[in-house]
Parts: sequence; C-alpha cells; structure tokens
Amino acid sequence: MIGLLGGTFDPVHVGHLRAALEAREALGLEAVRLIPNARPPHRGLPAAPAPARLAMVRLACAGEPGLAADGRELARAGPSYTVDTLISLRRELGARRPLCLLLGADAARGLASWHRWRELFALAHLVVLRRPGQAAWEGAAGAELAARRADGAAALAAAPAGRVLELEIPLLEVSASDIRRRIAAGRSVRFLVPDPVLDYIRRHGLYAGPAAKEP
Ligand code: ATP
Repeated sequence: MIGLLGGTFDPVHVGHLRAALEAREALGLEAVRLIPNARPPHRGLPAAPAPARLAMVRLACAGEPGLAADGRELARAGPSYTVDTLISLRRELGARRPLCLLLGADAARGLASWHRWRELFALAHLVVLRRPGQAAWEGAAGAELAARRADGAAALAAAPAGRVLELEIPLLEVSASDIRRRIAAGRSVRFLVPDPVLDYIRRHGLYAGPAAKEP
C-alpha cells in the first residue's frame, strides 16, 4: 500500500513531512510519495517555480526511506489535476495495488470542486488527516464520502481503491504561507523546514522578494 501526498510545497515543511510519516506508520504504508504540482488548479501562481519546489521536496525526502519525491506532474502540460496523476500512477503501479491519497482537512473540504473528483474513488482511497479531537470532516462531497467510509487501515489494504478513512494523527501547526511571510520579513524559518531545504532557499534567494509578501 502506497501513500500519496500532493501539494504546492511552496516550500515543503516539517508539517508535510511529519504528517506523511505519521500516516505511513498508522496505515502501514510502504512509502509516501510527495508530488508537487506544476500548475495548481485551485490557487494562484506559486511563489517558487515548479522545478525549485520539486528540488526542495527531493532534498527533504533524501535519506528517509519512508518518503519519496515524485516529479510526474512537472512532466505534464496544463493544470495539475489529481485525477490525471492517479491515472499515471496506475499505469506505473498496476490496478491492484492499494493507493491512499492523503489530504489535509483543509484540502479535503474543497474536494467537490476538484476536476472529475468522483473518478478519484476508482483510482485510490482517500485518507483525510485530522488532529485528535478535531471535528469530523463535513465537506460538500459528504454523502458520497459517508457511503465509502472505512473504519481502519485493514479495510484500505483489502481493496485497491474506493474507501474513505479519517485518520487522527498529530499535525504540526506549520504552513507554507507562514514560512513565506517570515522569509519575506527577514525572519528565521530554521527548524520549520529541513536544513538542506533552508540552504536551497537561501542559495536561490527564494521568497525574499516583494512577490513573496502576501496579505
Ligand atoms: P499554504 O500555506 O501555501 O496554503 P500548505 O502549508 O498548506 O501551503 P500545501 O502544499 O498546500 O501546503 O499542502 C499540501 C498538503 O499537505 C495538503 O493536503 C495540506 O492539507 C497538507 N498540509 C499542509 N500543511 C500541513 C501540516 N502542517 N500538517 C499536515 N498536513 C499539512
């Protein structure tokens, strides 16, 4: 069983990395692939170019056997739709291997607006990450999801796709937008991103310019 964490990763941070490892351990995943998007369909242009965001994800995953960087979305033209990524992964991994699409609760809330979102369930399971004690997730896709709800990792391992699991794990209070704001303000982001990522940001002068200053 393989986990997939898509995102803008602008930049990748310890919140992403810890969540991926927690999910891996909780679900018994072989590995979690971090998949940076090239052109996110649901938000403005990322601050850092896609190859830089992928390079940072590669640096963050290096030496951690439970995590891998996957650059396939950079090889496609047009918006980076998750459904296309899953189709491409199925071509590589075959139809039978269970795939778990990991989503933070914020990302999951918008699921019903995703391109061809109903097709996702034929391709992967959906695992919504939430903090212990956090309210259960109610999105616009609620009814569809309720019907697919699984009560544990065993139900995911038993089928290649189609189930939905809410997974309670500790989630760190870290966001990429906060990191960009800190850098733009000349503040430190040490220990919020892995040191090799910090070095990369510094060497390439990422997020320091006025473009990085968001409201
Ligand atoms: P931004 O602040 O720019 O919106 P972000 O930090 O939320 O960025 P994304 O690249 O948008 O990062 O997130 C990729 C995926 O990781 C999403 O599913 C998101 O919900 C999840 N995620 C983001 N931050 C955390 C965190 N601190 N803990 C767990 N999951 C997270």
